[in-house]
Amino acid sequence: MAEVLVLVDAVDGSVKKSTLELLTAARAIGEPSAVVIGAPGAAAAVKGTLAEYGAAKVYVAESDEIGGYLVAPKAEVLASIVQQASPAAVLVSSTSENKEVAARLAFKIGGGVLTDAVTVNEDASVVQSIFGGAVTVQSKVSQGVPVITVRANSVAPSPAPGAAEAVSVAVELSDTAKAAKVVDRVVEAKGTRPSLADASVIVSGGRGMGGAENFKIIEALADSIGAAVGASRAATDAGWVPHQMQVGQTGVTVSPQLYIAVGISGAIQHRAGMQTSKTIVAINKDPEAPIFELADFGVVGDLFTVAPQLTEELTKRRAQ
Ligand SMILES: Cc1cc2nc3c(=O)[nH]c(=O)nc-3n(C[C@H](O)[C@H](O)[C@H](O)COP(=O)(O)OP(=O)(O)OC[C@H]3O[C@@H](n4cnc5c(N)ncnc54)[C@H](O)[C@@H]3O)c2cc1C
Repeated sequence: MAEVLVLVDAVDGSVKKSTLELLTAARAIGEPSAVVIGAPGAAAAVKGTLAEYGAAKVYVAESDEIGGYLVAPKAEVLASIVQQASPAAVLVSSTSENKEVAARLAFKIGGGVLTDAVTVNEDASVVQSIFGGAVTVQSKVSQGVPVITVRANSVAPSPAPGAAEAVSVAVELSDTAKAAKVVDRVVEAKGTRPSLADASVIVSGGRGMGGAENFKIIEALADSIGAAVGASRAATDAGWVPHQMQVGQTGVTVSPQLYIAVGISGAIQHRAGMQTSKTIVAINKDPEAPIFELADFGVVGDLFTVAPQLTEELTKRRAQ
């Protein structure tokens, strides 16, 4: 069976959900092989999970050096594995960093890149959602090994046993790969909420919130259902919440199971980042707001009345 390489994203020794989605998606094409690139011990920490989700092999590319540089070493290591394994495709998650890895890798191996796939097919063709989700296209790389970035939450991760046979990969970084060096790392203070990019439920607030202090209404709603908090650009530009929370064309692209838009009009640039959400709920006092064209469920009403009532009801139900 054709081998499909999956680049593993792991944080503090645990595999990110997006990698489990990739291992599941890879099975449409062939047999997934996970690639762990990191510091010594990185693979041992995640091997069990990779086996659970169908990794037949785990390529272990470990080096003390890797963490000290940006994306170029990852592309270099992946290229050497591609040469060794001749896979049917390489899958990476659609983060900004991985998209750069994908582009560099495709250049090195003479393949093509498909970004932001929402479906991966048996023949390594993909479905992409483009122009803010207004159009879906089928694409296929016509020469070389396809390098595909897959959007988070596009595939439901499903376990399947795999042997996870370890294959050690020598890491010898070229001077070019070491051209850009990490000089400092600052760990972002993180709350208990899930991260926006891979959350399965998101509650976002817009200009309708009227001020930073009112975002506590969004946070309470999000916490009642274990959701991440997002925002429109109007809210981030106003300084009510940090820019990392912006959803949309110039912010984060999300595709959760449930997206609740509160006091957001639904401008095309906002829709571009959330239109592929599975279920969209909108709360807006203007019945003509464009977000209602997109919403599966809409509440026309004042968010200051509706959102707290929703939070109360959801909290009650959770407690039952
Ligand atoms: C190049 C470019 C890139 C952009 N990128 C992005 C992007 O990435 N993300 C993004 O979001 N935007 C982006 N924008 C901005 C975008 O065009 C909109 O201006 C922005 O999305 C509007 O945010 P909003 O919906 O919160 O505000 P508004 O459009 O002002 O809508 C506020 C909504 O709140 C409702 N409302 C007000 N009060 C209440 C209340 N009490 N109860 C209920 N509803 C209420 C109103 O009816 C209204 O529909 C971009 C623009 C450009 C030009």
